[in-house]
Amino acid sequence: MTTIARFVPKSKLPEVGTTIFTVMSALAAEKKAVNLGQGFPDFACDPALPATVAAAMAADFNQYPPMTGMPQLREQIARKILDVYGHDYDANSEITVTAGATQGILTILLASVHAGDEVIVIEPAYDSYVPSIRLAGGIPVFVSMELDENGYSIPWDKVKAAISSKTRLIMLNSPHNPTGSVLNADDIAALTDIVRDTNVLIASDEVYEHMVYDGQRHESLSRYPELAARSYIISSFGKTYHVTGWKIGYVAAPAALMAEFRKVHQYNVFSVNTPMQVGLAQYMGNPAPYLELSAFYQKKRDLFRAGLANSSLRLLPCAGTYFQSVDYSAVSDMPELDFARWLTTEIGVAAIPVSAFYQQSKESGIVRFCFAKQDATLQNALQRLQKL
Ligand code: PMP
Ligand code: GLN
Repeated sequence: MTTIARFVPKSKLPEVGTTIFTVMSALAAEKKAVNLGQGFPDFACDPALPATVAAAMAADFNQYPPMTGMPQLREQIARKILDVYGHDYDANSEITVTAGATQGILTILLASVHAGDEVIVIEPAYDSYVPSIRLAGGIPVFVSMELDENGYSIPWDKVKAAISSKTRLIMLNSPHNPTGSVLNADDIAALTDIVRDTNVLIASDEVYEHMVYDGQRHESLSRYPELAARSYIISSFGKTYHVTGWKIGYVAAPAALMAEFRKVHQYNVFSVNTPMQVGLAQYMGNPAPYLELSAFYQKKRDLFRAGLANSSLRLLPCAGTYFQSVDYSAVSDMPELDFARWLTTEIGVAAIPVSAFYQQSKESGIVRFCFAKQDATLQNALQRLQKL
């Protein structure tokens, strides 16, 4: 009898398992817990949005779009960035529609990082960054955010010390997942000083750009010509329009950077589905949904924080994103992953351990909740958490 060989490929990402978001969503479903783990809304998007997509399909916008994205969508994106941040990107040469922010980030790294180049990563960091850097042949160099009573911040002196002749790019994320911190004018000044007189590029993950609270403004790097000149800006319609499953976003960058980006983009997706681009272009004509998003989520943040104010969970500041982190050290000394599992199983609320956003698992006694939920869902979770 012939035996068929079993092939086990040599892994390019030996240290990677299933993402924490998948693991915790599965546990939440199994335990019938309220899922405040993985970041996604549990409410419907504006019905006007899928209506535009349905109309685009019915009107036979069903063949390949241009590789860079439908022109009307790129024009709307350019207009929005100009209106909100004052930077005039050329819709033809400086904006590309991507299959979500995740593909945008991987493509930036594949296009710009050469084997052995160093990429500075600020931890805690969104989970796709490091595997994407490694797939590009890059070497991540880590700088940890620091936590004090004002929340998490980036120690810019340490970022400066981490820069070497091999540094190709800095990965930034503001508003920041998972900490909810946002860059302010001082951060921008420090960053500008550090990169001036270097060739270091920046990938600025701004997927939560329209969720910034308490009257603060989002410091998009596109606001600052000196930084915009070396930056790829990334955003995601999934976050802004409550459609995380659509996996559609964009990258904006100066033409020379975008030209390299597109060389890779055309071979890893070629293009992104046409009817959604046509529908989104039409929907973006009205700026109200993104301009009103911060106020919408600030109410949810405040409801969730008020509900936890008298619990034993210590609320960390939340200046942006739809994530609220809490210090649970008054409740338990379990490691974060164990605590998140216990909370899901015994209390009935799923959360994400912040340690999952560090390469060398760092235990701080902090978990992250997502408050992009119906008020009733948040109330249900709060009732359970108030037992703590
Ligand atoms: N970056 C950050 C910081 C995120 O939180 C997310 C959300 N999953 C992404 C990127 C990926 O966005 P998308 O779903 O559009 O790929
Ligand atoms: N960005 C989402 C979060 O941080 C999850 C995205 C995913 O499941 N990959 O929860």
